Amino acid sequence: MLESQQQHILRLIHSGGAQSRTDLAKQLGISKAAISQPVRKLLEQGILLETDSNVSGQGRPSVRLVLPDAQQFFIGVSLLDDAVGLLLVDINGIAYAFEQCPLSRDPNRLVESIGAHIPLLIAAAQITAEQVMSVGLALSGVVDSAGELCLKSTLLDWVDVPIAHMLSDYLAEHHQLALPVYLENDAKSLAIDEHVFGLAKEVNDFTLITLGDGIGSAHFIRGELYRGAHGGAGEIAHTTVEPNNLPCRCGKRGCLDTVSSVLAIREQALEAHLPADCVADLETLAASGDSAAVRILHRAGNALGLALANIIQINDPQLILIAHAQGGFQGLFATIVKQSMAANVLPSMVGKTEVKPLLFAPHCWPHAAASVAIYHYLYQ
Ligand SMILES: [Zn+2]
Repeated sequence: MLESQQQHILRLIHSGGAQSRTDLAKQLGISKAAISQPVRKLLEQGILLETDSNVSGQGRPSVRLVLPDAQQFFIGVSLLDDAVGLLLVDINGIAYAFEQCPLSRDPNRLVESIGAHIPLLIAAAQITAEQVMSVGLALSGVVDSAGELCLKSTLLDWVDVPIAHMLSDYLAEHHQLALPVYLENDAKSLAIDEHVFGLAKEVNDFTLITLGDGIGSAHFIRGELYRGAHGGAGEIAHTTVEPNNLPCRCGKRGCLDTVSSVLAIREQALEAHLPADCVADLETLAASGDSAAVRILHRAGNALGLALANIIQINDPQLILIAHAQGGFQGLFATIVKQSMAANVLPSMVGKTEVKPLLFAPHCWPHAAASVAIYHYLYQ
């Protein structure tokens, strides 16, 4: 376990890159003498590494501190696909090994399966178990603010499952691995990943939307993940965009999910007898002038744009990231979303929030889960 000052030092280097002792002391508001002891301890443990750098090419090289690759490792476990994905990464997010195991909805069987594969993952990366700091778990559902309990997951059919403790206890009992396990919701995991390593690294106020069969969302405010009082802050999927219209799986009517999710778009295409299995197919049809395809994309895009405009009015984020599968946010749909956003925010707010698409990359979910573990190690 890191002391709070050590954690602060690692955080500054992780977010700002290589730093000298003088830079770090200045940012921490302490003397250069006071910083030498915590830095020495981190160097002795191999958590930090000294590098000589001479940027200007003149004068004495200054010693800077970096987080070395391949020293401390974290495991990400994703419960979001048909199979469980396990990825081992280092503190800089570089991947070293990947494993898969069957996804069971029975928590005990799932824990056994994941538990059996974690030692295989460590062996595949040719590292020691002591180099692994913690495990992050990502799933679709609502997670408590401590990152321990899955309050509800429709996909897994779970209510109040203490999956993080179950896995941690199993690893200790059956594999003699003392690893903390942190649980997080899928969109929040991806937002953490983007904040720690990706497009939102320098951004303190941003929103991330995942466009899939359902619509996920997560919000960073002042550099911190915002959950609200009960963990449901900013769940735009179930904001009402068409009052009293289609019933939603949540029990309400007219939710954004019933109009703009990939599943809803596919269902509308099916009803209109369009040969479209995905949003990209509809885009192709719309581009060739099919009026039904154009109508569906307009309806879905207008509703999503309205929901995002409301997010902008409430939170005023600097950036909105829209994560999607290939073809899920481009062409007419993306254009309509942006037009609808512009039409539904105050004129003075138009164009202030940048919108960037983000493709679901291979292994993006287990990587996001590993980032949750790294985030807890560095930031919480
Ligand atoms: Zn709903």
